[in-house]
Amino acid sequence: MPTEREYYQTPIAETGEAEIQEIRRLPQNTAAVLLNRTIFYPEGGGQSGDRGSINRKPLLDVQERDGEILHILSAEAAADLRPGPAELLLDVRRRRDLTVHHTGQHLLSGIILGLTGKATVSMHLGEELCTIDVDAPEFPPDAQEAAEEAAADSIEENRPVNIHLCPPERVEAFPLRKIPPKNEAVIRVVEIQGKDFSPCCGTHLQSTGQIGLLRILKAEKYKGLTRVYFIAGRRVLRNSRLLGRNCDIASQALKVPAGEIGKGLLAHLEKTAALERTLKAREEALAEYQAEALIQGRPGPVVAAVPDAGIDEILRIGRSAQKISSAVILLAAPKELKFAAFCSAAGADLRTLLAEALAQAGGKGGGSASFFQGIFPNSEKLDSFIDFFKKKMQI
Ligand SMILES: [Zn+2]
Repeated sequence: MPTEREYYQTPIAETGEAEIQEIRRLPQNTAAVLLNRTIFYPEGGGQSGDRGSINRKPLLDVQERDGEILHILSAEAAADLRPGPAELLLDVRRRRDLTVHHTGQHLLSGIILGLTGKATVSMHLGEELCTIDVDAPEFPPDAQEAAEEAAADSIEENRPVNIHLCPPERVEAFPLRKIPPKNEAVIRVVEIQGKDFSPCCGTHLQSTGQIGLLRILKAEKYKGLTRVYFIAGRRVLRNSRLLGRNCDIASQALKVPAGEIGKGLLAHLEKTAALERTLKAREEALAEYQAEALIQGRPGPVVAAVPDAGIDEILRIGRSAQKISSAVILLAAPKELKFAAFCSAAGADLRTLLAEALAQAGGKGGGSASFFQGIFPNSEKLDSFIDFFKKKMQI
């Protein structure tokens, strides 16, 4: 006997009673429980399978295969179950959330078709975000807003959602938004009064008012279509709360009212960019000053460690020094265990000068004839490298 689908009779039944008819082992340490009747919706029509429990053993998923409804549990949980009476408990919040989004999806697809003539070609009801793929090259913000407002109108009008069970030969009597499935004995048509007729096997609300609110989050190009992201019901409330909290943080940090965060942020970024320009100019001036102090009018090579400097500072000083001396300039940043060497003299090659000293001291590095840099595993090795190189350069 096929499982009786109670989820169609009672829109959202939190509990139910049934007989376990069979417990079947499945791969991957799972098992399927087959019931004579079920309150659990099996995945289908873009809606994922319900969660809940059978005799307090948690359901991992509910799937339909070859007309059978498989209630999937871990093999361990199923080992405690036996054929006979069972208490069913549905994860009502999750089901209600998916139902809200499923009816919301039908409404949104119907509205977009009505407003723009563009059809929905696929949909996905995710646990966080839901999407519809619309056969349109774009769906600009003003069209998104118009669709949201039209959805809000339909929600406020609390339009009835009617389910029609129809033999396939009579299905053409309905102005369906999409092609009905083939080889079905009965086609289930979900009507949102005045807005949409769709063949669908999913669970639906009794009227549009239960959607609460529907919000389009964004639309983006996707494989020649436009993917529209939306949320409905409580997810809109939670999203609004999350945005509100973030707005409060941004508003306090930027010292502007919440409605002016965008303007405040742009002004802040402009100010930061100006500060960065000033800082950069001062860093360059400081590097020139430090380079002059190192060279001190001497023509010969310079080897020095710059305490507290990072590699960026070393590079700035080195490049400034190169402008006033063509000799070898080797600067170390002890706090980062790094060094950089510069030489703009014609014919000189830092690689031949440094490779041996670097290898001898146990460092790693590389570069070109005029620029070379390296790193050491500890400060002793960096110090011995500097000593070795100083001797080599006879400083
Ligand atoms: Zn549907």
